[in-house]
Amino acid sequence: MRPPVIRKKLDALRPPHLLDFERERTSFSWSQARAELQGLPGGALNIAHEAVERHARGARANRVALRWLGAGGDSIDFTYADLSALSNRFADALTRVGLARGDVLFLLAPRIPELYIAVLGALKAGVVVSPLFSAFGPEPIATRIRLGRGRALLTTRSLYERKVASIRTQLESLQTVLIAGNHEGAPVPEGALGLDALLDAASERFDTAATRPDELALLHFTSGTTGKPKGAMHVHEAVVTHYATGKYALDLHDDDVFWCTADPGWVTGMSYGVIAPLLHGVTMIVDEAEFDAERWYRILRDERVTVWYTAPTAVRMLMKAGTELARQFRFDRLRFVASVGEPLNPEAVWWGHEVLGLPIHDNWWQTETGGIMIANTPALDIKPGSMGKPLPGVDAFVVRRRVENESTVGVEIIDAPDEEGELALRAGWPSMFRGYLGNEERYRKCFVDSPRGRLYLTEDLVRRDADGYFWFVGRADDVIKSAGHLIGPFEVESALMEHPAVAEAGVIGKPDPVIGEAVKAFVSLKPGFAASEALRLELLGHARKRLGPAVAPKEIDFTTTLPRTRSGKIMRRLLRARELGLPEGDTSTLESGG
Ligand code: ATP
Ligand code: MG
Repeated sequence: MRPPVIRKKLDALRPPHLLDFERERTSFSWSQARAELQGLPGGALNIAHEAVERHARGARANRVALRWLGAGGDSIDFTYADLSALSNRFADALTRVGLARGDVLFLLAPRIPELYIAVLGALKAGVVVSPLFSAFGPEPIATRIRLGRGRALLTTRSLYERKVASIRTQLESLQTVLIAGNHEGAPVPEGALGLDALLDAASERFDTAATRPDELALLHFTSGTTGKPKGAMHVHEAVVTHYATGKYALDLHDDDVFWCTADPGWVTGMSYGVIAPLLHGVTMIVDEAEFDAERWYRILRDERVTVWYTAPTAVRMLMKAGTELARQFRFDRLRFVASVGEPLNPEAVWWGHEVLGLPIHDNWWQTETGGIMIANTPALDIKPGSMGKPLPGVDAFVVRRRVENESTVGVEIIDAPDEEGELALRAGWPSMFRGYLGNEERYRKCFVDSPRGRLYLTEDLVRRDADGYFWFVGRADDVIKSAGHLIGPFEVESALMEHPAVAEAGVIGKPDPVIGEAVKAFVSLKPGFAASEALRLELLGHARKRLGPAVAPKEIDFTTTLPRTRSGKIMRRLLRARELGLPEGDTSTLESGG
């Protein structure tokens, strides 16, 4: 039996930033965090200035900011000075093609260097950046560009031809299309401009726009796990959260080599795959290629990665690839591993501890929060299965909504430990979203006044234990009500994953005339295990023993894959719709093959 807590042993030579959690929480203020950044004259604040210019004009100018690993085995290093010059050129080029402050630039590209240069250059010009995941089809691309009134799009020739050309006439706002990486010299598609030529003609000098802290900087679409994706609006001031969380939750020091495996098409890949690492002056790794267990282990080892930020789905795939493969590598430099996006099963935390030699630190946030809110931090003991504690500057509550006529009129705050309720955050942290694009009403409904101040309601259910650790129970939509119990799918999935045959599990509630909803599990198996009636019975028995008959699944189906979003989240609503023969709803973010 494993202990419930992983105790931390700290490296005395290298204490983490957040050594004394409680003291730092008490003394922390957002204004003090902001004072650690540079700012621009007149109270202006610009993300790209803090991420690049601040370093490019100082001692870190010649440090590698971005090491790009090409899918074909080549690699390119960009120093902070290089990023500064290139993003200046991009900003100048945007201005020359007629983009102005407040215009929206959409990005649709694989993880190529131009993508990173474009993000920084656009922000410098005060142009709003909206990244799209490059595997989207034409329809999701069109919907988002229309909703965001995209004025320009940066993409590649092949993506343009396959996905954009056919919808171009439907995109009335879209005036400019920039084609990146057209190195083979093939002609630029008609109606588009070649980026290389524009950059060559542009100036290496550019005065970063003196953006107001509350000026729009980024538009991020949510993952679409529970329904139609929402466009969350973020401002330049978010940089203060990116900075503080990079320090506290990821423990970034400027000699770190940091790898965030998320694609910048999603908020994690932007907040922590571009902005936070640069703010801390680290070297960040960008891998163009898709997931491959052996490649990933090689990158961790050969690039001497020190801090690694990944996702539960990736960890589960590594686990599936087997311990033998992992044991062929040594990760001498790795000192901190964190994960976000879905609940991290205790089994995965332990896997890190045993196989990588480091436990995995779960942390929680959403597109709407713009940055990490609750985290297992370096000096904090880990309770596997818990997402940790609210970071300095973040006040989190467990609440129950008071609903009248189907609208929330208030909340009851639950201070007692171990009770389930909705996670709410006191409004006002710098990276809080400032609206849902085109849906003011829905935005307003996310907030409620309470005796503890104005709260943002997250729609995630949690409980807080007596030590102040938060435990994820489930998304409000996914929670199963069975015979008077509220059952979070995560608990059931984690118990199933403890069985050696199980690679992944997705759990739903199925309407049942007697008990309201019956728990049903979909399970995929690890290599070497075959689906059989005997195994099904064994798993049912295993779950009953672990969870008790009220919570354990009544039914288990074997499946080769679970439907998941392109950002790697299990789409339980789809498992449910398919099981019940209901319409599938918005599937624009569904990973192909799901
Ligand atoms: P949509 O809002 O469109 O349904 P989404 O909520 O999945 O999609 P994101 O903003 O990308 O879109 O994901 C945030 C959500 O992911 C959180 O609200 C939570 O449900 C889940 N999540 C993120 N991190 C964790 C974590 N550490 N533990 C449990 N759940 C997490
Ligand atoms: Mg959401």
